[in-house]
Amino acid sequence: MTTKKIYDYLVLGAGSGGIASARRAASYGAKVAIVENSRFGGTCVNVGCVPKKIMWTAASFAEALREAKGYGFDLDVRGFSWEAVKQKRDAYIKRLNGIYENNLAKDGIEKIRGTAKFVDKKTVEVNGELYSGKHILIATGSYAWIPPAPGAREYGITSDGFFELEHMPKKVAVVGAGYIGIELAGVFHYLGADVSLFIRHDEFLRSFDDVIRSTVMEEYEKSGLKIIKCSTIRKVENKGDNLKKNLTFSVENKDTNSFGDFDGFEEVLFAIGRKASTDSLNLGVTGVTTNGEGYIISDEWQNTEQEGVYALGDVCGVAMLTPVAIAAGRRLSDRLFGGKKDSKLDYDNIPSVIFSHPPCGSVGLSEAEAATKYGKDNLKIYVSKFTNMHFALTEHKETTLYKLVCVGPEEKVVGLHIVGKASDEILQGFAVAIKMGATKADFDNTVAIHPTAAEEIVTMR
Ligand code: NDP
Repeated sequence: MTTKKIYDYLVLGAGSGGIASARRAASYGAKVAIVENSRFGGTCVNVGCVPKKIMWTAASFAEALREAKGYGFDLDVRGFSWEAVKQKRDAYIKRLNGIYENNLAKDGIEKIRGTAKFVDKKTVEVNGELYSGKHILIATGSYAWIPPAPGAREYGITSDGFFELEHMPKKVAVVGAGYIGIELAGVFHYLGADVSLFIRHDEFLRSFDDVIRSTVMEEYEKSGLKIIKCSTIRKVENKGDNLKKNLTFSVENKDTNSFGDFDGFEEVLFAIGRKASTDSLNLGVTGVTTNGEGYIISDEWQNTEQEGVYALGDVCGVAMLTPVAIAAGRRLSDRLFGGKKDSKLDYDNIPSVIFSHPPCGSVGLSEAEAATKYGKDNLKIYVSKFTNMHFALTEHKETTLYKLVCVGPEEKVVGLHIVGKASDEILQGFAVAIKMGATKADFDNTVAIHPTAAEEIVTMR
């Protein structure tokens, strides 16, 4: 081992949060190093948001091609090349990896390749070298996991494996009821695979408002995507061989105490949540603590229990969203190196969307959460359900549904839940208004943009 290298800021993990925080710190003149054992950009860029959005866009083209007929187009769609999209997608991501690395270099941030392991409270070892920071940030992210049911880990894939698929499986099982399961089941289905979605309860997206859950589920079922409810996985068997998998998926319905086998899957994809990537950090030698689920405990300032060591992003398990990690990372560096003593992220009213078909999104409290917090009698709920004009001439019609959750006599808007075309783009602006404390009257006082779907949000009665 050589002498220990010391930095003002040592960042562990070059994902969205780590990079954002490192670059902000460097902009204040701090001496910064960042440790990464994989590709730069983390989950979001390599196996998350970015390649997912590309696949969702491909699936959305499939929908648009189907709808184009209604608008007079006589199209002969001869097929879809998963292989071509994957090749171009991989090249796109590779370019982004390069851009990330160049940006770090431009900012004078030292890149350390390898896996960091704490050897004492403020020192890590990477490939036999020692590094320390006056301030250390843990932003090592999370990983998708597969349950220990027989055959599941042997034959199942996660979202990481989804992005490695060279061909589109003809028949696929997706397990999970959250963001990733709903998004990837949708991508497979709309690109033409035969999809069965296995969920543990009778609804998916259970942490979202009921209008989101029921509307997306209805649209998925209407479109032919099979949803196998109340199913808990028992085992996965391969009745084919390594070259051609023929997977049987056995599930149990705990309500009815019955069992069932589903055959002929080329792939089984698990999207049942993520775990904190802390295993190799050797946190035991530090004062950094984790909660019962293994996520690092940090306070509102991103401080861990170990002085001078901070944590943010997926590794903390709170609002596991790229923009949250970026915002928290930048604010932390503003505080540590930019003289902004009060800088911290406000975790209230974080908007997020799910790239389902149609897309949906939420900001603020669901109706049920608002009822618990403020009492049902203090709420006023506005709902608008309609068919977007986009579908005026199409054979296929889709539901658009918007819900506003308002509180008190002043009808402060505390929640907005939207499902329908372009919800992914519509939500951001409304999130600003809600963050600013807008009331229903503020929404009503905003003149509608016609004819759009979003105008319904300012004209609800
Ligand atoms: P989520 O936590 O969103 O959902 C996983 C769901 O799977 C759980 O809610 C649970 O639903 C179900 N589940 C849990 N354990 C099991 C099990 N053993 N067997 C079957 N089902 C199980 O995790 P994801 O993996 O979908 O996504 C991880 C995170 O990544 C998200 O929380 C989100 O923060 C982020 N993300 C954000 C995206 C976006 O912003 N568009 C896109 C993708 C990911 P139930 O209890 O109902 O069974």
